[in-house]
Amino acid sequence: MRRSLLPQIGAAAAALPPKNPGRMHTHADMDEQALRSALECSGQRFTEQRAAVFRFLVGTDSHPSADEVFLAVRRELPGISLATVYKSLETLVGCKLAVKLTYSDGSARYDGRTDPHHHARCLKCGKVVDIPGHLADGEFEYLRDHANGFIVIGYRLELYGYCPDCAREGVPAA
Ligand code: ZN
Ligand code: MN
Repeated sequence: MRRSLLPQIGAAAAALPPKNPGRMHTHADMDEQALRSALECSGQRFTEQRAAVFRFLVGTDSHPSADEVFLAVRRELPGISLATVYKSLETLVGCKLAVKLTYSDGSARYDGRTDPHHHARCLKCGKVVDIPGHLADGEFEYLRDHANGFIVIGYRLELYGYCPDCAREGVPAA
């Protein structure tokens, strides 16, 4: 299935220019107390469900869908529902603890990495992988200032093509 080349902006947090480009960090080392504080800063309660969803998200680089997060977290919390997983994901995104990548076919993936980085997406299997990098100094500001009056709150750069597994089976002629 072919999606549009320029997916909509998901979370603005995904996209702001890097403040400290050399530093790559995830929330993997964030302890429970820090997660609690981050949630409470946004007026949200710490819950076991939110913590489990958060732990799974920061521990994977697979950019899972809500269904995939549900299947994984259910192993730890058998009683959790898909609706609770979905709401937990949206809460984490709202608190800027995770990033939502939305696509024009209505699908979404979640990213526990909130530091600046790009993505490459396979047009055949849908896999999304991290690509290091950020725009050059001043590039974001230049684009923002030439955006025909748009109020720009972020950007996403996505490379697309075919992952090694799919490319091995042959790629369509460009
Ligand atoms: Zn693929
Ligand atoms: Mn990512």
